[in-house]
Amino acid sequence: MNATGAIAAAVVPAAGRGERLGPGAPKALRDLGGVPLLVHAVRALTRSRAVGLVVVAAPADGVAEVVALLDSHGLEGKDIRVVAGGDTRQESVRLGLAAIPAEVGIVLVHDAARPLVPVEVVDAVAAAVRAGAEAVVPAVPLADTVKRVEPVRGGPEPVLDTPDRATLRAVQTPQGFRRDTLAEVHAKALAEESAGVEGGLPPVTDDAGLVERFGGRVVVVPGHEEAFKVTRPLDLVLAEAVLARRRAADAY
Ligand code: C5P
Repeated sequence: MNATGAIAAAVVPAAGRGERLGPGAPKALRDLGGVPLLVHAVRALTRSRAVGLVVVAAPADGVAEVVALLDSHGLEGKDIRVVAGGDTRQESVRLGLAAIPAEVGIVLVHDAARPLVPVEVVDAVAAAVRAGAEAVVPAVPLADTVKRVEPVRGGPEPVLDTPDRATLRAVQTPQGFRRDTLAEVHAKALAEESAGVEGGLPPVTDDAGLVERFGGRVVVVPGHEEAFKVTRPLDLVLAEAVLARRRAADAY
C-alpha cells in the first residue's frame, strides 16, 4: 500500500526509566493530574482521526501493568497494543514498529514523555506524510541562543561556535514517516550496530535523525509549545499548570 490516504499507526516508546526526573516509577507511569503520562500521551494520539492504532512499547517487565493501566483509564475500547520495549529508545521503536500490521503505510512515533501534545500537531504531521513527505517532524523556534562546546566534565567548557538561531528548531514528537522508510532506516541502524560500525558517529536521538543518517529527506511542520517533553522535575510543574488551565477551560 502506498502512504496516500492511509490511516496511520502510532508507536509510543514508553520503556525508559526517566532517571533525570528523579527516583520513582518509570517515567511513562508518573502521575500528571491523577493520570499517568503514558495515558495522556496515548489519549492525545487516539483523539486524532488520522490514527487508527497505537502500539505502546512498555518496560519489558511491565507489559501486564501497562495493559491494566490503559484499561483502567477507559482506553480499552480503542485499538491499542502493548509490546515489550528494549534497552534503548531506538530498540523500543523498532519493536513497536514490528507489531504494526503490514498494510499500514504511515507510522507516527510519539514519546510517552510528551503527554500534552495538541491533536492539531498529530493531525498536521500525519497530513504531511499523507501529502507525500517521507519523514516529518514538528518543531518550534528556540528562545535561547545555542552554543556548541567542547564538552568538559565539570567545566569550564570552551565554546566552539554559535549557530545562527534563526536556522535552529527544537524538535518534538509525534514524528511521522512512510512506514517503509522508517522500517528501512531502523533495519540499517541495527545492521550497523551488529557490524560494530557505531564508533565515531554521533548518537541518534530521534527517528528522523536515522532517516537523515541514511540520506533521507526530513521536513519540519509547526510544533506547539505544549508538546514539550517532561524530562526534569520542573517540566512536571509546568505540565500540571497546562493541564489545570485546560481543565478550567473545560477542554478535558
Ligand atoms: O530518555 P528520553 O526522555 O529521551 O526518552 C524518550 C522516550 O523514549 C520516552 O518516552 C521513553 O520512555 C522512551 N524510551 C524507551 N525505551 C528506552 C529508553 C527510552 O521506550 N530504553
